[in-house]
Amino acid sequence: MVAPKETILLLNDHLHRHYGALKNATPATHRVLVVESERMLTTRSWHVQRLFFLISARDHFLQDLVAEGFEVELIRSPDTPAGIAQYRLANPDSHIVATEPSSHRQLKQFQELGITLHPNDFFLTPRPLFSQWASAQKTLVMENFYRAQRLRLNILMEGAEPIGGKWNYDADNRLPPPKGEHRWPAYLQHSRDAIDERVLQEIVDRKLPVFGKLPDSTWGTTRQAALQQLDHFLTHCFDEFGAYEDAMTTESWAVNHSLLSPYLNVGLLHAEEVIEAALKRFKGGDIPLAGAEGFIRQIIGWREYINGLYWFFGDLYRHENSLAANRPLLPLFEDSSKTEMKCVATTVEDIHSRAWVHHIPRLMVLSNLALITGTSPQEFLDWMRRAFIDAADWVMVPNVIGMSLHADGGKLATKPYASGGAYISKMSNYCKSCAFDPKKRVGEDACPFTTLYWDFLSRNRDRFAKNHRMAQQLAGINRLSDLAETKERAQEVLDLLSRGEL
Ligand code: FAD
Ligand code: SF4
Repeated sequence: MVAPKETILLLNDHLHRHYGALKNATPATHRVLVVESERMLTTRSWHVQRLFFLISARDHFLQDLVAEGFEVELIRSPDTPAGIAQYRLANPDSHIVATEPSSHRQLKQFQELGITLHPNDFFLTPRPLFSQWASAQKTLVMENFYRAQRLRLNILMEGAEPIGGKWNYDADNRLPPPKGEHRWPAYLQHSRDAIDERVLQEIVDRKLPVFGKLPDSTWGTTRQAALQQLDHFLTHCFDEFGAYEDAMTTESWAVNHSLLSPYLNVGLLHAEEVIEAALKRFKGGDIPLAGAEGFIRQIIGWREYINGLYWFFGDLYRHENSLAANRPLLPLFEDSSKTEMKCVATTVEDIHSRAWVHHIPRLMVLSNLALITGTSPQEFLDWMRRAFIDAADWVMVPNVIGMSLHADGGKLATKPYASGGAYISKMSNYCKSCAFDPKKRVGEDACPFTTLYWDFLSRNRDRFAKNHRMAQQLAGINRLSDLAETKERAQEVLDLLSRGEL
């Protein structure tokens, strides 16, 4: 007798034929089910490019599965449990399997629904292995995890020693944008096909709640487009990735960044493939070690560390608010016309245009502002989740709650990433055409970052007093002759920002 086919419940972020539940599946042994939850699509408004990307990438992937001979069924239902119930009613003998979901909520839901789970191998580090590492640490410093990864995965190593003798080339990287003329890498343009057109039309016809500019050629929606993006990065951007990884400039919205996060996060690319291709280029000889190390650290270090911590910290971590920050989301995050701050307006406008900005505008512009204004971490998290093309629970929660807003009291990052206008002024060309002066902390033309930075330190002085990594910054407060005026100006700035008038 022929064994009945198993049903693979496919999630939108598991779009790879060679990983997860699809790894050993064949059209003869498996069928594929996708449940599209109306609740996910309609209860919050998403950046239109994010929604478009997720749906179109899924539909292209399903098309490939059909071409391979798989039976594929897509059920649109009020929510996931209702869709599963509908499928089980029509297929009472079905046995449903899936890859372990990437969020706490969905994992719990799948367990409750009795779905058999395959281990999630969309990362390089199995969840239990990370947990073992983390449990043995005194502090969860990323650098220590990264070194352990280099050793474990044998990447850029000569035996037990790092190639070139150093683990970390940060000192050679992180330059500001060059002063004179500089040619930034060209952007890869992705073309649209009939599936893309249909998906976009459906978003419009179904009146799904969305914001942001309609998709252009920035993001591809297929495996082939993801591979092209990888090749484009390695050919045109990789050599100076490390050098300019922290630079911000109005002359290039991508600088030398890879733009791979959306593809990695939905499974169109796997980290193993990215690392293999990057190492091959590096071994080809035209990529400096500092640059290669900088990029590889992002993939085998930061990305894995963030995912590991998401699972290690558990589901309640998202609610932490150790600085008791309760200000509602500032209007300028959703509308760039609500501010004259050049750095913020440019960043928010870029998000409106492409649902993406690189790591430093996320950390040192947007999150820094949320941190020093005392914005609610949960409101800020919700906005970031809706606005970015690469957003997912596992990556947004630790990056926002821990890394950026220090809402976890220092479990992830030992000190808050708070800074005044000086950092943005050094690492970008924004301040040159801004209405404010990054050096000033009082007066109408004082940079709001600079004013609020000192106010933040002063407000939290007692809280950070025992943190030796904050000692130098806190000592700076004592040297301010105009602290009272700065705090007074900070109140004005906070009121104006809350009204969307600064
Ligand atoms: P590159 O700069 O080219 O880096 C290569 C890859 O490294 C990225 O594609 C990404 O996979 C990985 N990476 C680097 N840093 C991180 C990190 N801190 N966490 C996880 N992966 C990392 N990344 C997301 O993928 N999704 C998010 O929702 C997200 N939210 C963020 C929110 C905040 C507040 C901050 C500070 C960072 C966030 N990041 C997020 C991390 C990082 O900003 C993006 O991964 C990166 O900007 C994506 O662009 P890229 O692919 O060109 O990255
Ligand atoms: Fe941003 Fe301040 Fe520079 Fe203006 S002066 S661009 S607000 S850092």
